[in-house]
Amino acid sequence: MGAAPTAPVFTPSAPLRLTDMTREELTQLMIAWGEKPYRAQQAWSWVYARLAGTVEEMTDLSKSFRARLAEVIAPLRPPVISHRVSTDGTEKWLLDCGDGVAAETVFIPDEERGTVCVSSQAGCSLACPFCRTGTLPLRRNLTTAEIVEQVLFVRATMAARGVRVTNVVLMGMGEPLYNLAAVTRAVRIIMDNTGLAIGCRKLTLSTSGVVNKMEEAGLNLNVNLAISLHSVRDAVRDQLVPINRKFNLAALRRAALAWPMRGRDRITWEYVLLDGVNDSLQDARELVNWLKGIPSKVNLLAFNPWPGAPYAPTPREQILRFQEVVANAGLVTIIRDSRGADVGAACGQLAGTAGELGLFNPLHATEA
Ligand code: SAH
Ligand code: SF4
Repeated sequence: MGAAPTAPVFTPSAPLRLTDMTREELTQLMIAWGEKPYRAQQAWSWVYARLAGTVEEMTDLSKSFRARLAEVIAPLRPPVISHRVSTDGTEKWLLDCGDGVAAETVFIPDEERGTVCVSSQAGCSLACPFCRTGTLPLRRNLTTAEIVEQVLFVRATMAARGVRVTNVVLMGMGEPLYNLAAVTRAVRIIMDNTGLAIGCRKLTLSTSGVVNKMEEAGLNLNVNLAISLHSVRDAVRDQLVPINRKFNLAALRRAALAWPMRGRDRITWEYVLLDGVNDSLQDARELVNWLKGIPSKVNLLAFNPWPGAPYAPTPREQILRFQEVVANAGLVTIIRDSRGADVGAACGQLAGTAGELGLFNPLHATEA
C-alpha cells in the first residue's frame, strides 16, 4: 500500500507578511499555528474589508491571537515619503518600501469612479523615451505585499474621507509582466471577494508588449488587458517602445489575438500622441487597419511632458482629427487627458524626485 496522500504543508519563508498571502495560504498558516481555520477569515476581513491598520483594532480577537498576528502584519501601512495633491483632485504618494526603494501610487477620482494606479516595479528596465519612469534605473521588483499594500493604503485613506475606490490599474511605475509572479498573487488578493473585492472588470493591467509572458498572464489573470501600442510601424515602435525590437508588431498582434477574452471584453490599446511622430491621419488609418479582427478599444493618451522630455504633445485639434478617423472606422475610442500633471502624477510622469528616490549620486550631490 502506498502512503496516503497528504495535504501540502505550508512552509512559509521568513519574514512572513499577511499581505503576501492569499486567503488560502493564510488559512494554512492558521492551521500551522494550531488555530481554527476560521481565524484566517476573521483576520482577512479585519485587514481587507474593515480596513484595520493595527491589531489593536481587531477587538473581537483574543489578546494572545492578536499578539501572534502582529508579527505578520506590522506594519500594515507603508510609510509615506511624500504626498502631493493636484488641483484636479488627483493625489500621488511616494511610499517607502524599505531598503532605500520607493514606489509611487496615484489616486484618480472622477464622477462615478475612484481609480488607484499601482506600481509593479521601482523604476523600469525598459526605456521608452517618452516615459519618465523609463529614465530611472530598475531598482527592483516590488513584492506581492508591496503591490497589495498600495491598494490597501489608498482604500483606507479614502474610506476615512468617505471616498470610494472602485478601480485598480496596474499602470504605475514598471512593467507588470516582468514581475508576473508577484503581480499574479497580488491580483488574486486584490480581487478576493471577501476582502478588497475589486472585480475583474475593474482591474486593468497595462503592458508594453512583453509577448513571451502574455500567454502565462492570460492563463493566470482574469483582468482587462491594456497594451501600449503607440505606432503600428515597426521602425517607429522600435524607437518608442524599445521592446518592439525583441517582440515586433506581428508577434504582438498574435499574442493579443490569443489573449483569453472570456466572452466579454476588448483589448484596450494605448496610443500616446507625440507631435509629428505618430499622430498623422495616415498613422490613424494604418492603426485602424492593423486592429482589424481584434476586439479593440483605443485610448488616445495626451502626452504628458516632463522636464527634458524629447517630445511635444500633439495639438488638441489634431488629436480630435486623429480620433475621428478611428471612431469612423467603428472603434470605441476615448481621449485620456492628463490627470494630476501639475504634481507629476499623470501617466508617464512617475519618477518621484531624484532626491526622494535616492537616485542622486552622492558624489555629484556634494559637488553641486
Ligand atoms: N509599463 C507598462 C505600464 C506602465 S506605463 C506599459 O508601458 O504599458 C502606463 C501607460 O502610460 C502606458 O500606456 C505608457 O505608454 C503611458 N505613458 C508613459 N509615459 C507617458 C507620457 N509621458 N504621457 C502619456 N502617457 C505616457
Ligand atoms: Fe516602462 Fe511602461 Fe514607462 Fe515603457 S512606458 S519605460 S514599459 S513604465
